[in-house]
Amino acid sequence: MAHEDCLFCKIVKGEVPAEIVREGERTLAFRDINPQAPTHVLIVPREHHADAAAAAAEGTGLLDQITSDAHEVALAEGIAETGYRLVFNTGSGAGQTVFHLHAHLLGGRGLNWPPG
Ligand code: IMP
Repeated sequence: MAHEDCLFCKIVKGEVPAEIVREGERTLAFRDINPQAPTHVLIVPREHHADAAAAAAEGTGLLDQITSDAHEVALAEGIAETGYRLVFNTGSGAGQTVFHLHAHLLGGRGLNWPPG
């Protein structure tokens, strides 16, 4: 169920514009508005879950779906061979600012480790 004040629920419903790169039955992938790499795509479930831990606890299977969708986007973006990073910021202390589960798919440049 959508949450009224949730930005990503609004993107899923088409109420806020986004550059969509993949539409799945359970997920949507769109470009991050403030890209941190040449490819920076967010993969979100259509249904609202606050974060990855919540979706995992509910046994939704969404994390598997998001991971495989991210790989498909990486293939389409040409970054699957060179490598990419998939990040779930979970909790404000880790930098999560939008509390609708999303994976960041980052690639197209060298990515350092550890991250900042
Ligand atoms: P978080 O910090 O892990 O929660 O990631 C939220 C991401 O959403 C950030 O990278 C933002 O740049 C991105 N973002 C915020 N608003 C929009 C939008 O309207 N469209 C696309 N990305 C957005």
